[in-house]
Amino acid sequence: RRWGITVPLGFAIGAIRHPDRPAVIDERGALSYADLSERTTRLATALRDRVPARTRIGLLARNHHGTVEVVVAAAKLGVDVVLLNVGLSTKQLGDVLREQNVDLLVTDEEFGDHLPELPADLDVVLSWVESTTEHDTLDHLIAKTPLRGIDKPPRHSRLIVLTSGTTGTPKGARRPDPPSLTPAASIFSRVPLRAGERVLIEAPLFHTWGVAGFQLSAVLGATLVLRRRFDPQDTLRTIERNRVGAMWAVPVMLQRILDLPDEQRAAHRLDSLRIVASSGSALPADLATRFQRTFGQVLYNLYGSTEVSWVSVAQPSDLRAAPSSAGRPPFGTTVRILDEDGRPVPQGEPGRIFAANNMIFDGYTNGASRESRDGLMSTGDLGRFDRAGRLFVVGREDDMIISGGENIYPKETEDVIGAMPEVAEAAVLGVDDEELGQRLAAFVVLREQASLEADDIRNRVRERITKFATPRDVVFLDELPRNPTGKVVPRELHPHLNK
Ligand code: ATP
Repeated sequence: RRWGITVPLGFAIGAIRHPDRPAVIDERGALSYADLSERTTRLATALRDRVPARTRIGLLARNHHGTVEVVVAAAKLGVDVVLLNVGLSTKQLGDVLREQNVDLLVTDEEFGDHLPELPADLDVVLSWVESTTEHDTLDHLIAKTPLRGIDKPPRHSRLIVLTSGTTGTPKGARRPDPPSLTPAASIFSRVPLRAGERVLIEAPLFHTWGVAGFQLSAVLGATLVLRRRFDPQDTLRTIERNRVGAMWAVPVMLQRILDLPDEQRAAHRLDSLRIVASSGSALPADLATRFQRTFGQVLYNLYGSTEVSWVSVAQPSDLRAAPSSAGRPPFGTTVRILDEDGRPVPQGEPGRIFAANNMIFDGYTNGASRESRDGLMSTGDLGRFDRAGRLFVVGREDDMIISGGENIYPKETEDVIGAMPEVAEAAVLGVDDEELGQRLAAFVVLREQASLEADDIRNRVRERITKFATPRDVVFLDELPRNPTGKVVPRELHPHLNK
């Protein structure tokens, strides 16, 4: 049985213990714990009065106080929230709204133009508005609703997080409920967050990684520092101005911070920053090393997924010893590497990563689940442990290709190309091949002023790995197409191959 501290309970305790502490700071200013408590109670009342039988709220918004308010108000009402990825296409968004039975859509004004044709009975409320609008906005609803006590909700509210759909239509994954305390305890066992911490969440709040930061903050009585858009210079300014202690980011953001000219980085005092937590996609080894060299021993690499939650955490010392490692399982998590038949592989060999903890998701909203063996759930990734007990993620199962009869992990080739000094970033995919069955294709972004030929890349890969891991196609691009969580989107790479 799970016992848990719910998000509204966490914020409610904060409103009693430190009412004046900012709960959220964003571009519009600070909202104290007391303000947040009052505003979300008013909002919950407004939403309940508006549609009593409300069952699901869709939230399509950037990181700002409105996003937090909707999640907290929904929890006070016992209503589910579907977190919508701002990177979805209009068509995907339409499909998701229908499939997820959303009754009320809360969205930022800026997304108004991208909305699909909405069902006539779908109610829309705007969260972040730049203009003075006649539409319903969260602020209007909050301002005109009197403050009344609200009853205990009939049920717990659930957050439904969408998988990013890089490989198909996004699926809804139900987070466990009530949110257990274990994820927090588990993270605190490896990442030294402090009570009352200022936590800058640059990772999108609609993704599990951002949600995790938000839930942890409720437990910590922290101040959430939010920015609507990621900008590397703005991030440094925000850390300095707000004395941020911990930052939540995805690897591509760290890359962009490192890419800033030295003098721009040096212009900021960042001594408050003790923790930079990276997750959402693999942290390239070279990036880990350069980040540590520039910013000191502050980097943590967290590996997990929407479905399985935390699998492992690499601390700065792990990354120093093994920069490509995903670290060790945190408190409460068991990890096993299994072969195709579900048997443990010999120490050091790669295999399928399975994990167990009590944070595992409650299934997809379409009724599907994930493969489990002996109480452990498949992560969908391949990995191995080193002798020191550190986990290495070698790639996704779906990505593994068989080329001329050899099992090949594109990520291995990607890591080798990505670490070449002339290369800014690289992605490697398996593509169909008449002769070999499948072959590798590399997409490479060179650093400014660097020059490198396709054959140099092939030769170096052949020397470092094997000839099978060498990409036949090498395509040079100006940048890689990425989704808001920083994952490369393969379907946007394929068209470049025919050119
Ligand atoms: P999908 O692409 O399947 O729709 P998603 O991006 O929505 O997935 P997430 O649950 O966010 O789903 O992604 C989890 C996956 O991201 C992991 O299974 C792993 O492949 C990858 N990943 C996340 N963090 C790390 C990390 N620190 N190191 C390596 N891989 C990681």
